[in-house]
Amino acid sequence: MINWDDIDTVLLDMDGTLLDLHYDNFFWMSYLPKHYAKFKRIKRWEAWAELEPIMQSNRGTLAWYSLDYWTDKLGIDIPTLKREIAHMIEIRPFVVEFLTGLREHGKTLYLVTNAHNKTLAIKVEHTGIDRWFDRVIVSHDLGLPKEDPEFWHRMRALHPFDPARSLLIDDTESVLTSAKQAGIAHLLTLLQPDSHKDVRSDTLFRGIHHFDEILPGTTL
Ligand SMILES: [Mg+2]
Repeated sequence: MINWDDIDTVLLDMDGTLLDLHYDNFFWMSYLPKHYAKFKRIKRWEAWAELEPIMQSNRGTLAWYSLDYWTDKLGIDIPTLKREIAHMIEIRPFVVEFLTGLREHGKTLYLVTNAHNKTLAIKVEHTGIDRWFDRVIVSHDLGLPKEDPEFWHRMRALHPFDPARSLLIDDTESVLTSAKQAGIAHLLTLLQPDSHKDVRSDTLFRGIHHFDEILPGTTL
């Protein structure tokens, strides 16, 4: 599926790719609405009716990923709330083996995330996921989300990589689409970003279930 001889740089998304998306989905769909209802003294369904349109209208934008935006908008300290359930943050199966293997094979590794710096800090604290990477790139610092093709050009100006010899693995298909438009040659998605949800069968890009399917060494 992947010919590792063709790849120098591996660009990896964090949430839903290296880490189980269940933590994020649980937080936004369940934990936050519950606390928002309590905070506003309204019913849970009323809280959801307020939150859902805000979430929909901002999806794929930097605001959506910004904990400061949500803290201001809702009047709730979102980073503190996220920390309350930080024990639920989990590294996906075979990620450690995969990242270790990539390093052993001399690949350059960039973590490329839309996660806000405060979210990244919580996740790094609980998983140490940054330890394998040459660089950690936060889209907020570049002023564009990964969903915008221009993001990849900006990123390349600051963090050089050859798009023709790079692989991006990301569970968000609009991100893969923008990367494709920016010329990144090798693209893969994840078939089950959230371990508590069904496996996806209708992805636009080739997908893997777990990283054991593409471990370098077994495919060289
Ligand atoms: Mg993701």
